[in-house]
Amino acid sequence: ELAVDRAVGAGEAEHRGIRISSADRVIYPGPALSKGGVARYYDRVAERMMEHAAGRPVALVRMPSGLDGQRFFQRHPGKGFPEAVRSVRLTEADGSSADYITLPDPAALLGAVQMGTLEVHIHGARNDRLDRPDRLVFDLDPDEDLGFPAVRKAAREIGDLMARFGLASAPMVTGGKGVHIIVPLRRTAGWETVRGFAEAVARGFERRAPERFTATASKSGRKGRIFIDWLRNGAAATAVSPYSLRARPGAPVAVPADWDELARLDRADGFDIEAAVARAQRDCPLLDASRGAQGLSQSVLDAMEDW
Ligand code: ATP
Ligand code: MN
Ligand code: MN
Repeated sequence: ELAVDRAVGAGEAEHRGIRISSADRVIYPGPALSKGGVARYYDRVAERMMEHAAGRPVALVRMPSGLDGQRFFQRHPGKGFPEAVRSVRLTEADGSSADYITLPDPAALLGAVQMGTLEVHIHGARNDRLDRPDRLVFDLDPDEDLGFPAVRKAAREIGDLMARFGLASAPMVTGGKGVHIIVPLRRTAGWETVRGFAEAVARGFERRAPERFTATASKSGRKGRIFIDWLRNGAAATAVSPYSLRARPGAPVAVPADWDELARLDRADGFDIEAAVARAQRDCPLLDASRGAQGLSQSVLDAMEDW
């Protein structure tokens, strides 16, 4: 079995060679989930999750005292992290640069958990080529009173458009309210091109069906609509990682689905830990899509112009 769940002492556990302190501390109330339970979850999905999250800059949502305590959205390395957690220097278009957290392997993931991490968010490029994204994300953010069927339908429409451009994609329920449509990319284009493409798609949907979509972040413009958040695409932007827990009541998980499966899901936060582990042990639709990844070539950009 994958899970190494060795009791080391009262309130301690060890996973992947990382000592987890205060393992019995309750992090999620409700159906109670302890820090040790969080570590056990990440241990069980580590290999699969790291196929998506390893070797790129990440941001961590840390809540060391649990859901009722302080919340830290941490992008830069800090004191006290286990050595397994590493850093990578990222230089942005304006020339500014900074060190970001990066997780090379399952031990690093568990190192982040030891520091109170609940959520892992990932950048769209890998460390060895930070100026060439290997994924593009459309983050569908529905207005509060819009039901999930509307989100599902919108996701499908974006996926179909990508397919028309020859781009494979996969939907991911976020564990929150919405769906991300993730388009794995061959690393031929830079951020400006990828971001421009994402914006053009979002604005195209808004133009065609302004009663259903907005491409603008403002809360007021979202009334009864879905905000197609294309701003997740940028050198320093992040989106929640596949198989990340969410720091929300009930401990829901962000889980990639295939398009047929999405049609049968009735909410974005329907995967709890057990369901997510079971799903992670099967195929991964997003990895499947990655195997057919295309670049944003001139022919794709031309097809976009004609759309
Ligand atoms: P939902 O489906 O509920 O929208 P989501 O993960 O898409 O879930 P959003 O609020 O749409 O949530 O996206 C926020 C994104 O912005 C996160 O995925 C995260 O990567 C990024 N982000 C940037 N700064 C922060 C921050 N301070 N706190 C949380 N997220 C942040
Ligand atoms: Mn969202
Ligand atoms: Mn968003």
